[in-house]
Order: sequence, then C-alpha cells, then structure tokens
Amino acid sequence: MNLNKISDRVYYIDSAVNMGLVVNDRGEALLIDTGIDESTGKKVLKLILGAGFALKGIILTHSHADHCGGAPHLVKATGARVYATGLEKGVIESPLWEPLYLFSGAYPPSPLLNKFFMAPGVAVNHTVVPGVINAGDISVEIVDLAGHSPGQIGVAAGGVLFCADSVIAPEVVEKHGIPLNSHLARALDTFDLLEARKDSLFIPAHGSPVSDLGPVIKANRSRVLETLSTILQLLDKPLTAEEILAEACSQRGISITNIGQQCLMNLTVMAYLGYLLEEGRIAVSYESNRQYFSMV
Ligand SMILES: [Zn+2]
Repeated sequence: MNLNKISDRVYYIDSAVNMGLVVNDRGEALLIDTGIDESTGKKVLKLILGAGFALKGIILTHSHADHCGGAPHLVKATGARVYATGLEKGVIESPLWEPLYLFSGAYPPSPLLNKFFMAPGVAVNHTVVPGVINAGDISVEIVDLAGHSPGQIGVAAGGVLFCADSVIAPEVVEKHGIPLNSHLARALDTFDLLEARKDSLFIPAHGSPVSDLGPVIKANRSRVLETLSTILQLLDKPLTAEEILAEACSQRGISITNIGQQCLMNLTVMAYLGYLLEEGRIAVSYESNRQYFSMV
C-alpha cells in the first residue's frame, strides 16, 4: 500500500480497495473510502500523516464493508467528518443492514456477521447529493454512480474520477463472472454517464488507474448484457429464482460453496429479475407454492 501522487492536489492509495486523497494548500486532506478494517485504517493514517497531511474529512462512496470498515478508527484518531449519500448513510450507521438485506431481511446467521459483510459502523456527519461540495474546505465533485449499490457515488477532483465499484477491471469481471449489481437500470445509466465524462484519469476501487475508461466500461456493460440475454434465454420455460441462479452461474463457471457467496449472487440475480419485470419482458406465476419467472 502506497500513497501515489497524481498531482499537487490529488493522490491515490493502492490497496485491495483503492482509495483517494484530495488535499488543499494548507495540507488538509479528504480521504475517499477507507478499506475494510481497523488494520487498513491504521496503515492509511500512517501514510497520510507520513506525507505531512491532516485528515479532515472522509467520503464513503457506498456502504459495502470493504469501503467503510476502516472509517471508525480514522474518525477516532483524527476527528475527521464523514460524508455519504442519504441512502448509504442508513447502512453505514447501522451496518447490520448489509447482512440483513443479504439474508432477505431476516436476522443473518454468523457466517454473514463478519467484517466482509458488516463494517463496525460510523456516524455520517454530512449527507451529500451530486454536484460540487466543499468538504472541510476541500472542493470536490460528487458524481452519481448508482447501480452497484443503490446510492453509490464517485468523487472527481483535479481531473481524476474515483469511480468506486461502478465498473471493475476487465480481469476482475472475468474473475467474478457476474459482477455484483443492485439496481441494473441505474448501473446501465452509470455506464453511459462514465462514457461521457472528460476526466483525464479514472480510478476504480478494484483495478488499476486508467486514462481511457472505454475498454473497462465495455467489459462491464458487455457482461451485464450477456447475463441479461442468458437469463432471458433460460426463461423460455418457467424457472424459480434458485434455478435461474444455478443455471446462470454454471454457464459462467461459477461454483457456489458458501452462504456469503450465495447471498451476493442471489442479490445480483434478483437485480436482473427486477429489471426484466419492470421492463415487462418477464412475468411471475405461482404453482405448488413456488414462484416462477418466465418470458412474456
Ligand atoms: Zn461495493
């Protein structure tokens, strides 16, 4: 993990989840995301202090634990103010919501109550909306990147866009098979929005910084459209959500072996089914207390 200088104002920290740092001329810093846990938070703080900066604010792009688990330590150590969208704030402040929604709203079993699915929780001091904000005297643009998570944002400063999990590197698309998305229509809108951006550098949380985001967007969009097509082809006969999940995963070489993986894939498949229902391309029916989806 290193603090990499992009310009006098903008840095990024390479990690399992890439982070951003925007500073002003007084050496005050605004961190974008925090990594998964206290240990990561400590390493991040060491880098920031080692460069002579004072941490004043933290923008959390979305509520997934790998992005906000380091925040409580950083807030405790520095008094930094926390910024997030209203929708993500609810989960960031009450992190049980993440395993709770993954387990259909029922109280989750212990394999979902670990740091990968549940961050320690931190108070969000400022709710943000898209547009330019002045966070602790540091000006950045909040960009609406909903889709992967329903209230996800990106942060732009000095020609650099930190684009969170809106797109992931093509090799990560291949590794995951079907990338996690919660709101498919918004994810597709976000691909279009990213294509129109004029930033000179893009930094996805999972992947390397790139000056041309085109191939990355293409890889993500293609995989979403291929998965939509796969699901529609499967639904020439009525199938349950569980059957659709099993078939779609098999076709992508995905092998589900634990409850966490199953819950994440289930959320993704439900996002596709919700999208197709709203588009009027599939319908639901009920037989023998089972819910079936099929093409209309
Ligand atoms: Zn995420």
